[in-house]
Amino acid sequence: MNSYDVAVIGSGPGGYVAAIRCAQLGMKTAIIEKYSTLGGTCLNVGCIPSKALLDSSHHYEDAIKHFEEHGIDIPGDIKVNLKQMIARKQSVVDQTTGGIDFLMKKNKIDVYTGVGSFKDATHITIKGEKDEEIEAKNTIIATGSKPSSLPFITIDKERIITSTEALKLTEVPKHLIVIGGGVIGLELGQVYRRLGAEVTVVEYMDRIIPTMDSGLSKELNKVFKKAKFSVEVSHKVKSVERKGDEVIVKADNKKGEEVEFKGDYCLVSVGRRPYTDGLNAEAAGVKLTDRGQIEVNDHLQTNVKNIYAIGDVVKGAMLAHKAEEEGVFVAETLAGQKPHIDYNLIPGVVYTWPEVASVGKTEEQLKEANVDYKVGQFPMRALGRSRASMDLDGFVKILADKSTDEILGVHMIGARAADMIAEAVVAMEFRASAEDVSRMSHAHPTFTEAIKEAALAATEDRALHV
Ligand code: FAD
Ligand code: NAD
Repeated sequence: MNSYDVAVIGSGPGGYVAAIRCAQLGMKTAIIEKYSTLGGTCLNVGCIPSKALLDSSHHYEDAIKHFEEHGIDIPGDIKVNLKQMIARKQSVVDQTTGGIDFLMKKNKIDVYTGVGSFKDATHITIKGEKDEEIEAKNTIIATGSKPSSLPFITIDKERIITSTEALKLTEVPKHLIVIGGGVIGLELGQVYRRLGAEVTVVEYMDRIIPTMDSGLSKELNKVFKKAKFSVEVSHKVKSVERKGDEVIVKADNKKGEEVEFKGDYCLVSVGRRPYTDGLNAEAAGVKLTDRGQIEVNDHLQTNVKNIYAIGDVVKGAMLAHKAEEEGVFVAETLAGQKPHIDYNLIPGVVYTWPEVASVGKTEEQLKEANVDYKVGQFPMRALGRSRASMDLDGFVKILADKSTDEILGVHMIGARAADMIAEAVVAMEFRASAEDVSRMSHAHPTFTEAIKEAALAATEDRALHV
């Protein structure tokens, strides 16, 4: 039987990064993945394929809506070739997952294909093509998550689908009904809206992306309205029924009246649940929370001292970069180091266009905590860069402590916000004040000038270009 210093169960961004860091730190490492490709949800059916389709559909939208104004005439009709779009997405996924195979080899990490299941706290059986057993001094559980649903919905994977199926449709829906106006619903809803589908998002809360700063929800809603991307908030879905090729969604609106939506596809995107099926955590004595997550302490250690857990299967935001940080954290803890993660500074991004990105506290959170704060906001449309590329929607908002000027939260919506948020993370990591950022030179013309201007507005209400 092979013996390891560390066995990692699950090869998503949490698991494979943990394995690499363990190997870098000199530990003999194995990784166990039940699917034949590495990379987990993120690389196979999550972050990467969804961004590939967002990019392709964005090009299409630009071609049909903006090329003419840019002075680009394309003779003949511009058409969507969905088969090719999905094939390109798959080749991006294949290249990316192939890259993880390479990284495992490069770092001398043994890869086992099959379902990893605890026999006891130091032995794991792997049920794959052949059954194997390994011994591990330490184990990192990184088994991730699966789409969750509502008790009355039957996901048939044809017309009533999750994100996994939405990433490989063979036709553009005529009317896609999306249940849940969170990240998946809006990103994939926008893909199919751009490709010509009518899209209706039905959201339970009173705004889309309800966990982000409410200013962002409002601005994104405005943009969606212009694009005829329908959003129905404060609607409680109570039934989803398929009749042939038709899907009927019934919901109660704010007034308690029944509303019916008819479409040909329904995407259920109401969140994800931690995944521990087949893991046999009980055999190792590992405790789960009431919500089915693996219970961990501040060191990401379970109640069994040589078993740790990271990523979507534990508490916290279900984000690839959060899982990665936790993978590194556990590897370094095992090596005797004292790593640190500031969960307040893990950015959140929605890859719609305009992109939405946030870090730190929202206005709602600051109000609730009775923090005295000030706001500096700057509209993207006031930038020369925005006019040049016709990306006029959005703003950058900086929230700073009223007495110390320390930046407490940055919320932005606009072109390339997903990349720009990194500046806010750096600033907050070094506990910058709004004035610090306002005195830094930002290249002209760039979208990042909105950050400087918002910082000026927060410091002394003296933005230069509004
Ligand atoms: P996962 O990536 O879920 O990996 C877990 C792995 O463990 C899987 O491969 C699974 O097969 C394997 N496994 C489970 N049980 C066993 C077992 N017993 N034995 C062996 N293997 C097992 N996040 C972002 O930060 N940015 C994005 O843009 C983004 N886009 C997304 C888009 C979509 C459509 C979806 C669905 C998710 C997206 N996410 C995004 C979320 C992101 O994918 C997850 O947060 C991330 O994948 C979590 O990583 P993880 O390592 O914890 O788990
Ligand atoms: P989510 O939590 O982002 O959104 C779910 C939405 O569904 C919420 O707005 C919620 O209020 C709504 N909802 C819940 N029950 C409902 C009901 N009965 N009727 C109507 N609406 C209801 O979840 P998601 O969009 O499914 O994404 C799952 C996870 O994947 C998220 O945690 C997210 O972090 C991650 N993800 C991240 C990205 C990204 O970082 N860009 C992209 C996709 C997914």
